[in-house]
Formats: sequence, structure tokens, C-alpha cells
Amino acid sequence: MDVKKCVIIGSGPAGYTAAIYAARANMDPVMYTGAEPGGQLMITTEVENYPGYPDGVQGPQMMEDFRKQAERFETEVNYNMVQGVDFSGDVHKLTLDNGEEVLAHSVIIATGASAKWLGLPSEKKFMNKGVSACAVCDGFFFKGKEVAVVGGGDTAAEEASYLSKLCPTVHLLVRRDEMRASKIMQERVLNSKAIKVHWNTEAQEIIGNGEVTGMKIVNNQTQETSEIPISGFFVAIGHTPNTGIFKDLLKMDESGYILTEGKSTLTNIPGVFASGDAQDHVYRQAVTAAGTGCKAALDAERYLVSKGIL
Ligand code: NDP
Repeated sequence: MDVKKCVIIGSGPAGYTAAIYAARANMDPVMYTGAEPGGQLMITTEVENYPGYPDGVQGPQMMEDFRKQAERFETEVNYNMVQGVDFSGDVHKLTLDNGEEVLAHSVIIATGASAKWLGLPSEKKFMNKGVSACAVCDGFFFKGKEVAVVGGGDTAAEEASYLSKLCPTVHLLVRRDEMRASKIMQERVLNSKAIKVHWNTEAQEIIGNGEVTGMKIVNNQTQETSEIPISGFFVAIGHTPNTGIFKDLLKMDESGYILTEGKSTLTNIPGVFASGDAQDHVYRQAVTAAGTGCKAALDAERYLVSKGIL
């Protein structure tokens, strides 16, 4: 059976960048896109912070550009999902959703992470029409407007702080009477005049007509409800890395993010490299993910050379 030099799992900025570098290094990369080709950028509208697009670009368009660039250098892009992996041998074995098995000398993981959502029907209805999971990506569109952030962790604190520089009022909805965020982040939030913390508070519904105009909230202690006018609703209740198939095989932190060695993309398994949000819960930007995709391809190239495969 044919053994691929390099298989890339996932098709966000990390995966495509890895593909571009691997293809140009004669590694004949084969990509399996997963169930959501393009990753999280496919549910983003305008991207204005990716260098090289002076007028901004729609997330899906940007991913199409990445794919075309990867294919220009003859990356083989397959729209399959990798359902299982076996990293026990020198050659790695992947099982696809159609039952097919693929062998690879090197594997680059770029499976990303998925934002957690509240599960409100109105949240789905207003997705990208005022509802977002990324203040750095979408905050600018709400400049000068009132917005809300849900969550009590570091992400929520960071998103609220970021938005407080753009928006006159940021309503932070915390479901308990304390925040989980680090002390320094909490202080930043509590000292900000623009951030209004609503303790013991949950969102019941996002209100609007085509776009978001307000939200209905409830105090979960008193059951008192109220409506607040807002234009943007940011959900910051955490992300889940898409690393389930690597559990018990690769070293991960307690949240399931893959651990890599130092500044490299090396995992604990030789020939397996991790890039993008699957190994980064801090920066989570398209441009940082692309950077680690590049690193993973360079690390994989060095590995293949050291094994005499390239
Ligand atoms: P966390 O899991 O730390 O926090 C999630 C927050 O969302 C908690 O306050 C939780 O409430 C709340 N929450 C969860 N589900 C719901 C829900 N259904 N409704 C309302 N609220 C909900 O996730 P983060 O993304 O904030 O952080 C993940 C990791 O990344 C952490 O380790 C964090 O420290 C790190 N991080 C570090 C940063 C930095 O160093 N600059 C920046 C961002 C993240 P409850 O507390 O009640 O469970």
C-alpha cells in the first residue's frame, strides 16, 4: 500500500498553510478537510486583520484563496473526515469516514477548535448578524454601539476588555457570583468604566429583526427578567479543541489542547506535528494558526529528511 509522505488533517488557515509549504518542499501533501472545510473562518463574515487583504475579505473567500494556493502546488484535497488514527508504528495509519485506510510517514494535525455556544435558538438565528464568538474578529463592526459578552473566564474578560475600547457600554453576563478568570483579568474588567458586570445573570433570548437590537436576561437567583438594548452579542464561554481522535495517544493539557515541544510543533509521537487552534488556546487567530501551519510543515520536512524519506 502506498505510504504518503505527509498527510494534513484539517483545512483552516493552519492546514492550508502547512499544505502550501509541504507542497513546495516536494512532500506531496494529502489533505483531509474534515466535516467543516475551511474551519471557523467559514462562519465569519468580514476579516479585516489578516495582512495582505487591505480592503478586508469575507472568511469563506479567504479560505477559498488558501485552498486555491495549496492546490496550485498540487496539494491533494479530499473532503473526508479522519475518524481514527494509529500512531503505534513508524508508519502512521489513518482511518477515513468511508472506511478507507491511509498510511503516512508524517502527519500534520490542524483540526482546530470549535467555539462553545449557549444553544439558544435566537443565537443561531442571529449568527453573524450580531452574534459572534470572536471580539477581535468582529468587534470593530460594533464601534460606538452597546454590546454584551457572555462568560466569566479569561476569554470573556479579554473580549470584554477589547470591546470596552470600542464600545461605550459592554454588558458582561456572568452566570455565578464570581468569575473564573485570572485575578489580573478580573481587575481589568472590574476597573473598567465601560464594562457593566451582571452577576448571576444568563441570557434568555437575543432580540432583533434581521439584526440584533437587544437581549432578554434573567437573574438566576431572583428570576427577575429584563431587556437591554444591544447591537452585538459575544459568546465567550470557551472553546473545545477538535482533538478527540488523538485522546490517549498524544500528550494534551487538561482541556484537550495538544502539547508541543518548546517552540516547535513536535508532539510526543515522532512524525506527528500539531498546529493551529488544536494546540493553541491563547492566540487563536487566523494569522497565528497559519504561522504554526508553516512551522509544522518545516518540522515535518526536517523529520522526513532525517528518515531518508525526502
Ligand atoms: P473557561 O472554561 O476558563 O471559562 C468559561 C466561562 O464561561 C466560565 O466562566 C463559565 O462559567 C462560563 N460558561 C460556560 N458555559 C456557560 C453557559 N452555558 N452560560 C453562561 N456561562 C457559561 O474558558 P475560557 O475560554 O475563558 O478559557 C479557556 C482557557 O484559556 C483557560 O485556561 C484560560 O485561562 C485560557 N485563556 C488564557 C488567556 C490569556 O492568558 N491571555 C486568554 C484566554 C483564555 P462557570 O465559571 O460558572 O463554569
